[in-house]
Amino acid sequence: MEIELSAEDLAFQNEVRAFLDEALTDDIREGARLTPGVRTKPEIAQRWTKKLADKGWLCHNWPAEHGGPGWNTVQKYIFETECAQAGTPTINNMGIRMVGPVVMKYGTDEQKAEVLPSIVKDEFQWCQGYSEPGSGSDLASLQTRAVKDGDDYIINGSKIWTSGAHYADKIFCLVRTSTEGKKQEGISFLLFDMDLPGIKVEPVIMFSGEHELNQVFFDNVRVPQANRVGPENKGWTVAKYLLEFERGGIAYTPPVKAGLKRLREIAEQEAGGGQRLIDDDDFRRQLSHLETQIWANETTEKRVMSALSNGQNPGSASSMFKLRGSELLQQMLELTMRAIGYYGGVFQPDAYIPGANVDPIAPKHGVTATAKYFNQRAATIYAGSSEVQRGIIAKHVLGL
Ligand SMILES: Cc1cc2nc3c(=O)[nH]c(=O)nc-3n(C[C@H](O)[C@H](O)[C@H](O)COP(=O)(O)OP(=O)(O)OC[C@H]3O[C@@H](n4cnc5c(N)ncnc54)[C@H](O)[C@@H]3O)c2cc1C
Repeated sequence: MEIELSAEDLAFQNEVRAFLDEALTDDIREGARLTPGVRTKPEIAQRWTKKLADKGWLCHNWPAEHGGPGWNTVQKYIFETECAQAGTPTINNMGIRMVGPVVMKYGTDEQKAEVLPSIVKDEFQWCQGYSEPGSGSDLASLQTRAVKDGDDYIINGSKIWTSGAHYADKIFCLVRTSTEGKKQEGISFLLFDMDLPGIKVEPVIMFSGEHELNQVFFDNVRVPQANRVGPENKGWTVAKYLLEFERGGIAYTPPVKAGLKRLREIAEQEAGGGQRLIDDDDFRRQLSHLETQIWANETTEKRVMSALSNGQNPGSASSMFKLRGSELLQQMLELTMRAIGYYGGVFQPDAYIPGANVDPIAPKHGVTATAKYFNQRAATIYAGSSEVQRGIIAKHVLGL
């Protein structure tokens, strides 16, 4: 893959920059900057996704036939890099990145016609009902039951760590439709509305005080069998396909690079006693080490992505991206904590509210650094822990 941008790529980059200059208003950018959690607050993020949807760029990774802009790999990478550098919100992309690819591959024509355009138009927020109390890494042991009743399933059980369930309109959910044979062979994949009778959502508050996670309870929830994606009891195949996109459907490097750029700017400012952190040998060595790793990861990411044509699945390489991307993100946030020094000890959640009438104790770049550091400890857990990714790489990439 060409690393240097061609004249057409540069023109495309300018087009993206012009759009961002106009559409990414100061209040949206500020809301994204002040977000301490994994995702930007929904009221801010959804204003941004509407703008992307109006422009036809929301599903930027999708093939044109399903409503994507039909960009090539370089264009997608440019778009993601420019968005990260500009500081766009981190959106809930479960519809775009997970449900969409699954419905494209396994959905019926009716499901494609109903679900895909609604994602392109940003009509609904989705959440993911995979994990259960007791079934995280060992996902196939899940116990939420779906029992047939006429044309419907009746669902009972519970999901946990369900990000965004408190504002989601719809859920994609793994349920047990058989207890016979191997545990992987009795699972089905369902799509349904979150406002059905019998669904209860309870918050799980994070260490930092944020509400992103939930536990969802199903008490005799009636879902049409027509909402099943793929054959009954074959949901494990569908679920694994979705995970490839969850772990590898986007480039991890652009946001880490954007964070690194900001970190370098912090380190180049004068700190106490007129010293600059960038002049500290030990800090510079750590920064250079991180930059080298990010560069290596970016090269691998571009190489693998360029080998994929539009809509193709990333396969087991997605585990490599997820593992390295999440580790590098954490390393970048650790160095940022070091760079902000004593301000890392400040807990001032009121300062996270855009436009709040409070004087932040920390300088602008330090307001959410600690909360981001703590929240992103989860990056090596969500979407499958690092240990689980290493197991997949050992088995499916290295053939050990
Ligand atoms: C912020 C956040 C958001 C999340 N959002 C969602 C969501 O929206 N929807 C959803 O369904 N889930 C979500 N999850 C759940 C997430 O997918 C699980 O937490 C994850 O898969 C790990 O499962 P667990 O928490 O049950 O840990 P466990 O599976 O109990 O693992 C505990 C420890 O044992 C290790 N371990 C487990 N099995 C192995 C093995 N075979 N080899 C080596 N080590 C192993 C793990 O790496 C981990 O360190 C979210 C989690 C977090 C933290």
